[in-house]
Amino acid sequence: MRAVRRRIIPLLLALLLLAGCAYPARDPEANESSSVDLLAMDTVMRVTAYGKHREAAELAREKITALESLLSVTNENSEIYAANHALGASVELSPDTAALLSRALELCDSTGGALDVTIYPVVRAWGFTTDQFRVPGAEELSALLERVDYRQVALDGSTLTLPEGVELDLGAVAKGYTGDCVAALLRAEGVESALLELGGNIQAVGAKPGGSPWRVAVTDPNGGGFAGVVEVVDKAVVTSGGYERYFEQDGETYWHIIDPATGRPARSGLLSVTIIAEEGIKCDALSTALFVMGPEKAADYWRENGGFDCILLSDDGRIILTEGIEDSFTPYGDWTDAPVEVLQR
Ligand code: AMP
Ligand code: MG
Repeated sequence: MRAVRRRIIPLLLALLLLAGCAYPARDPEANESSSVDLLAMDTVMRVTAYGKHREAAELAREKITALESLLSVTNENSEIYAANHALGASVELSPDTAALLSRALELCDSTGGALDVTIYPVVRAWGFTTDQFRVPGAEELSALLERVDYRQVALDGSTLTLPEGVELDLGAVAKGYTGDCVAALLRAEGVESALLELGGNIQAVGAKPGGSPWRVAVTDPNGGGFAGVVEVVDKAVVTSGGYERYFEQDGETYWHIIDPATGRPARSGLLSVTIIAEEGIKCDALSTALFVMGPEKAADYWRENGGFDCILLSDDGRIILTEGIEDSFTPYGDWTDAPVEVLQR
């Protein structure tokens, strides 16, 4: 069995060199900038604020650390851990956890349960929270799936009640919500241009210093470099893919995005899904959910709901993107000559 978390190792080396300092980034367009690097939410993060904003960058670090300690499913002091161990009793949530969960439940509903924040018992059985990877049997999975249903989560204002056995995992949405909080914090501090790199989640505040759009790379899910570059201003760009976290056993690859209908890694014909919209949590939720849905249902969801753009990379080598992003996405590397299908309303 082989466990791989490709994106973490090189970034971790960079982090070790940079941890804990605010330093000027080497962007020739910027006169001045402050960056903070940190390891949070199981990934490497960097926030860069352009202009004289060292304090704002430090506030961003504090906010991320505070959110992580509320939301971590494995930290025994987190609110989510407390809720998951309340044995049916109600718990009081902080404003951030309540706001995040409330929005996440709306997105579970709108995706028809392709996103389901009660997936935790299944994710744990596969070992994705502990790195003790294993393939659960069919009976075990069907028993665990009885505990998976976001409609069992009762959130009344800030009071949360989970039936005994139902457990939350906010891993699919926490970084997106964090991006929204940090972007709002930076704007309130007067920052007009910033880039938040939160693992696979990118969130842009404004445009680059000088006014040109940010160029955000979309990772090639087949390894190595990039599949393309998308240009954005004031938007989040969030990618989910099986390549981000997986293990191999007996020649099969098992990844961390689970289809709540089967309890197994979602095999929908997609290698990755990138969502582009203003709201980070929506991008994060939909990148996971559309990966579960697969290309046809994802296209239907976009036509019915709109309000975002997406780039789907299929396992037969196609690029499927929505009309709004057609002019700002450029395929790259091995995807340069891939067939492109543009979804229209
Ligand atoms: P992401 O990387 O944003 O796609 O989120 C994947 C993470 O969310 C996994 O590591 C699990 O913790 C959790 N997860 C996996 N499948 C689902 C699902 N269908 N709905 C909600 N959360 C999920
Ligand atoms: Mg997600």
